[in-house]
Amino acid sequence: MFGKVLIANRGEIALRIHRACQEMGVRTVAVHSTADANAMHVRLADESVCIGPPAARDSYLNVPALLSAAAITGADAIHPGYGFLSENADFAEIVEAHGIAFIGPSPTHIRMMGDKIEAKRTMARLGVPLVPGSDGELSSAEEAIAVAEKIGFPVLIKAAAGGGGRGMKVARSRDEVAEAFRVARTEAKAAFSNDAVYMEKYLDRPRHIELQVLADAHGNVVHFGERDCSLQRRHQKLVEEAGSPALDAAARDALGARVTAALREIGYRNAGTLEFLWQDGQFAFIEMNTRLQVEHPVTEMVCGIDLVREQVRIAAGQTLGYGQDEVRFDGHAIECRITAEDPDTFMPTPGRVVTYHAPGGLGVRVDSALYAGYSVPPHYDSLIAKLVVHGTTRPQALARLRRALDEFVIDGISTTLPLHRRIAADPEFGSGDYTIHWLERFVARGAA
Ligand code: ADP
Repeated sequence: MFGKVLIANRGEIALRIHRACQEMGVRTVAVHSTADANAMHVRLADESVCIGPPAARDSYLNVPALLSAAAITGADAIHPGYGFLSENADFAEIVEAHGIAFIGPSPTHIRMMGDKIEAKRTMARLGVPLVPGSDGELSSAEEAIAVAEKIGFPVLIKAAAGGGGRGMKVARSRDEVAEAFRVARTEAKAAFSNDAVYMEKYLDRPRHIELQVLADAHGNVVHFGERDCSLQRRHQKLVEEAGSPALDAAARDALGARVTAALREIGYRNAGTLEFLWQDGQFAFIEMNTRLQVEHPVTEMVCGIDLVREQVRIAAGQTLGYGQDEVRFDGHAIECRITAEDPDTFMPTPGRVVTYHAPGGLGVRVDSALYAGYSVPPHYDSLIAKLVVHGTTRPQALARLRRALDEFVIDGISTTLPLHRRIAADPEFGSGDYTIHWLERFVARGAA
């Protein structure tokens, strides 16, 4: 086992990783920008190193500074968390070249899945069903029109290097394709320095259902069931559940068997999530994330597993030590992503938190790096807390969620807590009958 892990991240996820390491008897090194000198992850870690000024490119994305921090503290592994360098294959490669373990998949697999076109090709070869679309990159507007006419409107043009819901353009008719192609290419180039785009049929009422997987370096691959992440705004998740209100055990088992077989075949290692759209009882693969995800706690709550601990164990060469038969699904869990944003306009609201009171009680978990007196810096993602509840049934989890949201106090800055209270109280959400388009309409209704 490692002696010391450097956590190349900040905020709640840095704390989350620290907690797992602490329980394993592994020491932690926090890194931070000058804007985060007073952050909770810095306070709790065994050691900390300042790696640069506030801008992420100068600090949390600053590879030489991170490697120096690992060298001077003698860290023997790096956990990248999510975001920042977590899906950067070059970073994983450089870390390993310095004799430090990267807590994540191999650079080869990060690269393979980071290119969504290659990811889809790989999954198709392995027998995983896809959303109908172009066979790879679109080379011209003419080709885009031809593919769109073949698969039928509406269509979605997506960036091969896309992420965070950016670089997607819908075209609803033939006239819109050339413009959507041009805009998607330009945006992809600006956001990801890669203008490759591809096309998918734009599904009108899918759910977003993803499968959590762990694989060790000895050929053992196990899945931990699905998460339903259909509650999205601008293709970004706001609320997630495990399991999906739409899926039964047979559907989960069938998908799980296919996915674990595919990952075994390519020799995948560490944690991964395969994302699917689910409509009319059919799954269609859209992408794979080769890292820990924001919404991983809902899986932990129903499976009673510590996914970060498992990531660390796998990176240290240990075997999973259990098979699929031993994975249990117990009850239901729901997560709300609470952000420092105006609940109506979604404009960021950085600033000083005056009062902070987190809810508690049976089945309630809060992953947050907030404290009273903390100033949310303006430089980073606006996620400030994840409220996760667990109940034996979905109705019980929902009742617990409403209760916990009412207890939650974050004063001094505006947050999305009021929006989450409205969602949790909504009968349609309560029914579980929603698609990826539900939340946009719900938010629009609230604003009207
Ligand atoms: P990103 O990597 O930017 O998150 P994804 O491919 O994972 O992009 O898609 C993000 C979200 O966009 C999905 O969860 C879904 O809501 C929506 N989406 C993606 N592809 C399609 C599609 N073909 N039809 C309808 N919605 C889609």
